[in-house]
Amino acid sequence: MLQVAKKMERLGTESAFEVLARAQKLSQQGKDIINLGIGQPDFKTPGNIVEAGRKALKDGHHSYTPANGLPELREAVTFDLKRRYQVDVDAENVIIVPGGKPTMFFSIVMFGGQNSEIIYPDPGFPIYSSLINFTGSRPVPINIKESNNFSFRADDILEKITPNTTLIIINSPANPTGGVTTKLELDKFVKEISKYPSIAILSDEIYSHMVYGNTKHISLLEYPEIRDQLILLDGWSKTYAMTGWRIGYAVWPKTLVQHVTRLCINSHSCVNAATQYAGLEALTGSHNDICRMLEEFDQRRLMIHKELNSIPQFKCVMPGGAFYAFPNIKGTGLSSEEAQNLFLNEAGVATIAGTSFGNAGRGYLRFSYANSASNIMEALKRIRKVF
Ligand code: PLP
Repeated sequence: MLQVAKKMERLGTESAFEVLARAQKLSQQGKDIINLGIGQPDFKTPGNIVEAGRKALKDGHHSYTPANGLPELREAVTFDLKRRYQVDVDAENVIIVPGGKPTMFFSIVMFGGQNSEIIYPDPGFPIYSSLINFTGSRPVPINIKESNNFSFRADDILEKITPNTTLIIINSPANPTGGVTTKLELDKFVKEISKYPSIAILSDEIYSHMVYGNTKHISLLEYPEIRDQLILLDGWSKTYAMTGWRIGYAVWPKTLVQHVTRLCINSHSCVNAATQYAGLEALTGSHNDICRMLEEFDQRRLMIHKELNSIPQFKCVMPGGAFYAFPNIKGTGLSSEEAQNLFLNEAGVATIAGTSFGNAGRGYLRFSYANSASNIMEALKRIRKVF
């Protein structure tokens, strides 16, 4: 019998993929399933981006690229960051990777290990705690509270710092809550954390374009005093409806570039060349389709918030960003898993139990509004019927 290394027992998973598989199985059995569990835009990648990828293949871009990404793509990322945040970034600090997850993996592997502690959001993206456990670090959750509109509070993080803290992970706009952290809290966080130059910060800003209403996304890149500590994670998956292309980027501190480049060479070598050309077109070409997609998400956000609150047993704060709503379902008397299973089996609606995102997700359910307005209306109608 094969014996895998003990640490494999500590590796978790992302239940969204499991729920997706169950929903697909039910669909195949002829059940009418509306999927509000999925964490990816229901829009197609814009045509100009697809065409750029196709052209790259036709033009013979079939080879390895530099491990850190095509120079022109890294340059384009720096122009984009300058346009969005008015900051100067050296293209040498930009590393192109296959999606948002590799940056997460590399940062946690780089700073994780016995005797280290990593602070992360709970509820939060499940891969954070999975990888922290995998490396043998002590996971230190910060409770992201509904009473604070799921925006993190600087003090909640700062009070968890010990001499063993090596990395702090923050995520805004957030999965699974849709929470967006305020400038006031970011200012406070940065002012204090800059006093700990040996602690790295992973700022997962994969939903940076997805903020609505009066909310503005503020990137940690806008704070020069922490640039030598900051790993900024962003990418194309959500913004450009490119989840399956597998492309993302991060801005790394100068001192870590050599380490992350080696991790790239040791793992995937480079992102596939045609995808990188598609990514270049996404940054430099027309953004009309993307603006339309974001307007549509905003409409759905307002709708799902209203519909969820029309169920007396649910209580939902207005999400400020991403494409998730995270209602409090404690009034149903059901656990998160019971509600998830009931809605999938009885109403044909896939959602994700809040506990899939950590202990603090107990009593909540994640609804993704990356589905059409009519499907969202129908899903909520069916859930109302279950009660
Ligand atoms: N970070 C967060 C908060 C996410 O929700 C996701 C995907 O759902 C990712 C990162 C990973 O993105 P990618 O698909 O580009 O790896």
